[in-house]
Amino acid sequence: MSDSVRNVVIIGSGPAGLTAALYTARANLAPIVIEGLEAGGQLMLTTAVENFPGFTDGVMGPDLMANMRGQAQRFGAELRTGQVTKVNLQVRPFEVTIGEAEVVRAHTIIISTGASARLLGLPSERRLIGHGVSTCATCDGFFFRGRPIAVVGGGDSALEEATFLTRFASSVTVIHRRDALRASKVMQDKAFANPKITFEWDSEVVDVMDGGQGAVTAARLRHVKTGAEKDLPIDGLFVAIGHTPNTSLFSGQLEMDANGYLITRDGMKTNVPGVFACGDVQDPVYRQAITAAGSGCMAALDAEKFIEHG
Ligand code: NAP
Repeated sequence: MSDSVRNVVIIGSGPAGLTAALYTARANLAPIVIEGLEAGGQLMLTTAVENFPGFTDGVMGPDLMANMRGQAQRFGAELRTGQVTKVNLQVRPFEVTIGEAEVVRAHTIIISTGASARLLGLPSERRLIGHGVSTCATCDGFFFRGRPIAVVGGGDSALEEATFLTRFASSVTVIHRRDALRASKVMQDKAFANPKITFEWDSEVVDVMDGGQGAVTAARLRHVKTGAEKDLPIDGLFVAIGHTPNTSLFSGQLEMDANGYLITRDGMKTNVPGVFACGDVQDPVYRQAITAAGSGCMAALDAEKFIEHG
């Protein structure tokens, strides 16, 4: 264990974590960011981002994250490759274990470990993310103006995304693995009443095709009761089967809601004084890069205040 105690350890390096790093670095708190397995977060899996303010012509997700990284480093933030394997919030200073054995001690911790969009687990799905496969209708719907698309899932997210996507797409097919939706009645009524939305019931996606062109051309569906397969021609596939907040490190130590999201109140405070959370790890609702960045700024200011005044 190192003798020195860090002012701020930031766990996670998406827009929330890197904004927290920028602000705490500029406040002379010499933050260290433990980047995690998916350095840069969910934006590393996207292509063009057109809704992050300040970029008239949009920006590529990985480029935006590279800029955020560079900006935080310019003010002295230390970025560390590595995975946090354990945190001890019962002691002061807090202890953060990186990898097998390295322990960093900290007066404050900012948690920005994000949430992972659940995926179907198909190799073709992974390969075509950002090339027709998306997990974010708000981010990518605009690219499918006048084109046929599909949404996978039967919950509120799937129907909300399907309804939203009808603003752009020529048609939206909801592909659901059962014959009954999980979504709330009001969302169902809205979707059923929308002439652009149709349903493929009892169906799972077994492959996403690109016709050798590097962009989605169809989804192969298998009927779960008959086993029959067919290809649905589409230009985009939105996977909306839920998100999983990355909070397993904190179970039993921090308050979470029923779905495992960290609970923040009074700014970005968790129930443990000195521990703050920002970004998707505490936000099941908005989940945008800009809201994550905004909450990262708030967490940094909260941490700064805590260090000054306790
Ligand atoms: P969810 O309610 O867990 O629904 C996930 C859907 O994806 C389910 O229909 C599920 O099928 C399907 N699914 C899961 N894994 C799958 C797989 N491997 N292959 C195919 N399908 C799969 O998730 P959510 O829709 O993201 O909603 C999460 C929470 O946020 C819910 O409490 C929801 O009410 C809330 N929410 C509310 C609103 C709103 O009120 N405006 C909007 C969005 C979300 P099964 O049904 O067969 O399990």
